[in-house]
Amino acid sequence: NWGLGSWPLRRARMSPDRVAVIQGERSYTYQEMLERSLRVAHALAAHGVRAGSRVAYLGPNHPAFLEVMFGAGLLGAIFVPLNTRLAAPELDFILADSGASVLVWAPSHEAVVAQLAAPVTLLPHGFAADAPATPLDSPVGPSSTAMILYTSGTTGRPKGVMLTHDNLAWNTVNLLLDVDLTSSEVTLVSAPMFHVAALNQTVLPTFCKGGTLVLVPAFDPAETLTLIARHRVTYLFGVPAMFAAIARSPGWSSADLSSVRSLICGGAPVPAPLIEIYQRRGLTFMQGYGLTEAAPGVLFLRADQSAAKAGSAGTPAFFTDVRRVAVDGSAAPSDAPGEILVQGPNVMAGYWNRPADTAAVLDGDGWLRTGDIAVADPDGCLYVRDRVSDMFISGGENVYPAEVESALFEHPEVAECAVYGVPDERWGEVGCAVVVPRPGCSPDSSGLLAFLDGRIARYKIPKSVVFATELPRTASGKVLKSRLRGSSGPA
Ligand code: AMP
Ligand code: MG
Repeated sequence: NWGLGSWPLRRARMSPDRVAVIQGERSYTYQEMLERSLRVAHALAAHGVRAGSRVAYLGPNHPAFLEVMFGAGLLGAIFVPLNTRLAAPELDFILADSGASVLVWAPSHEAVVAQLAAPVTLLPHGFAADAPATPLDSPVGPSSTAMILYTSGTTGRPKGVMLTHDNLAWNTVNLLLDVDLTSSEVTLVSAPMFHVAALNQTVLPTFCKGGTLVLVPAFDPAETLTLIARHRVTYLFGVPAMFAAIARSPGWSSADLSSVRSLICGGAPVPAPLIEIYQRRGLTFMQGYGLTEAAPGVLFLRADQSAAKAGSAGTPAFFTDVRRVAVDGSAAPSDAPGEILVQGPNVMAGYWNRPADTAAVLDGDGWLRTGDIAVADPDGCLYVRDRVSDMFISGGENVYPAEVESALFEHPEVAECAVYGVPDERWGEVGCAVVVPRPGCSPDSSGLLAFLDGRIARYKIPKSVVFATELPRTASGKVLKSRLRGSSGPA
């Protein structure tokens, strides 16, 4: 089989002695990564993991993340990487929803792991150290699920996106056809690997080509510049907020960036001033649009088009097709907004255990509704304009207002509330909460925000609170967020 679990073997066969991973002062060759993945597979099997079992992982960027992913893949098990910023109840929800039987965790997360209630076998980093590295082959069909990545929905509850071994292989091929990665690539991985973009747009393609991954446990703008110079980094991916932070860091003007060949900025619209700041340093972004459900690459904008098509996310990936439809489902004229639909071998199998949610976004012909609105120019370049939903993106993380609102609503002095995104120089967008207090109550904003701490992840917590006597609503009772954005902006 040629599933994800076989990738270390295939690579070790071609270039056993090349450095696959660098973390801090340690480096690991492809042969070592193969042996470590085999040890993890044998140790997981000893804990009852079989084909189809779900294996969760909680930890920062680290070689263990890869070993658990490949080790689970070798057994035909399904890898479930967890967002390291979630609070214990949020992690418990995902562990229960996915039915994970084991959770491998990093020492950095000991405290939150101690608070978990889900009935999983807890395995700390290093659990496989004494297991054998003997060869192992399990039959994994290309259409079976390789990983489940959780993504929040407008309804608040995270849904598990099922990506198959095929999805991962084709997304890698699509990326390698648009980005000229080579076997001498040195890729800096500073975005979190539990996110689809860092994992599938940097880690997997670099690994497939036999390049070197420099893993950074937590993004730090100044350290990013140091690492680029120290390891002669050639390729890096980030969301706009990360690239903006790097350019603001004190070392920016003197940093040696001469090794960098490819920069991909994606996940959110790239502001034109940011493109210019990097161009002044001789660096041109490629841009990318995608979503977890498409594994994730959908659109790429080549670097040589970056200036001429500023603000565009480009054209479809090689093996992927895109249509834009108006509200009535008819093809949208090129200059009119339309929802992006995606079809191709990278489109997910569906949402884990959610047939109704799956049917709402995937039709019988495999077209995926993205919920994103775009216009097209005469050359077929797409400009992503807005989301059908009210989601906003803070520091590269999707924040779904409904989820924040329901947490805030639990506060005894809150009668009504609405959360929406406002522009923020540092994070791209941050939440603003509009709160209608219960009669006779006068909660203060710091108390409300402290109430959310520990209930939801920090990045979801609004940065400001505005008090109101009522919320503007449509006739059907839906809060008019567009009106809130227009009127109450403390931004
Ligand atoms: P996720 O739900 O985490 O998979 O994030 C995917 C969403 O991020 C998409 O549905 C878009 O709303 C947004 N997104 C990703 N890339 C871009 C981009 N280049 N421009 C605008 N929005 C983007
Ligand atoms: Mg999404």
